[in-house]
Amino acid sequence: MNRDVDFADRRVVVTGGAGFLGSHLCEELLRRGARVVCLDNFLTGSPVNVAHLLPNPRFRLVRCDVSDYVHVPGAVDLVLHFASPASPIDYLRVPIATLKVGSLGTLHTLGLAAEKGARFVLASTSEVYGDPLQHPQREDYWGNVNPVGPRGVYDEAKRFAEALTTAYRTSRGVDTGIVRIFNTYGPRMRPDDGRAIPTFIGQALTGAPVTVAGEGRQTRSICYVDDTVSGILALAGSDFAGPVNIGQGDEISILDLARKVIALCDSRSRITHVPLPQDDPCVRRPDTTLAYRELGWSARIDNDDGLRRTIAWFRTALDLAS
Ligand code: UDP
Repeated sequence: MNRDVDFADRRVVVTGGAGFLGSHLCEELLRRGARVVCLDNFLTGSPVNVAHLLPNPRFRLVRCDVSDYVHVPGAVDLVLHFASPASPIDYLRVPIATLKVGSLGTLHTLGLAAEKGARFVLASTSEVYGDPLQHPQREDYWGNVNPVGPRGVYDEAKRFAEALTTAYRTSRGVDTGIVRIFNTYGPRMRPDDGRAIPTFIGQALTGAPVTVAGEGRQTRSICYVDDTVSGILALAGSDFAGPVNIGQGDEISILDLARKVIALCDSRSRITHVPLPQDDPCVRRPDTTLAYRELGWSARIDNDDGLRRTIAWFRTALDLAS
């Protein structure tokens, strides 16, 4: 069983707290008793994602761009730095903002953690492995990233953020943790964020052709958001430095994922093939041995179950309830 860390009365700052993953983190932290300060500049996140949390007196939403500055009055026990555009079409639209939040945003939030004596957790990514030459990916693999390719703005920002986080740990004594998050999906993903799962679900639910990139032989390992959140909070509640992979070990080809989504949506959509984006990783699967050993965590929710829950949410969000 995954251990549920208790955050009662701990004051937690979540940057990017109005984003997809951030909003689920805020919600779960509140459920576990924390006081939450959610910082977001709403570049890719939205206040709508946390509107249901606003009546909670332990929740505060502050509009703030952590790449410019960050100031939080009062005590802080934990800083979770989750602000960043995270889907390829988003970070290609705002490449410099992506580099800034991974570099300057990480610098400012590490400074906040240092000043407050708080633990700091960096949201890193499986993208630090790039198009991996080691499979599955273990934390001691250094990766295969093209710094000047289209994904470089995200991948290198996160790699820099990991280096900076490590430097604050070794030279400033900040209690840090780094989590490398693999593909995560669930309610509140933006239907237009361009990623495979929301795109396929939107297409399948409306009967539009499902756009598989290339032949669809590339693989991903997809993790339902509740599992990802419990893994992140297991790391946040520990004193483990990481980096640690959080993801689900089942690997699926994108073509099979498209077929599965079509079937689970009871859709008549057909599959159409579109060009494979440059530097699209061929494979991706986490080795989660370390997460299990150090945090007692592993993913629990299988793909069919997670996709059904996500599809149900999209039906309502897209106003397709039938
Ligand atoms: N993909 C696809 N059709 C789409 C969107 C994405 O086939 O409409 C592919 C994409 O090329 C990649 C995989 O699905 O091979 C996962 O893409 P996503 O953007 O979800 O995540 P990432 O590439 O960052 O892992």
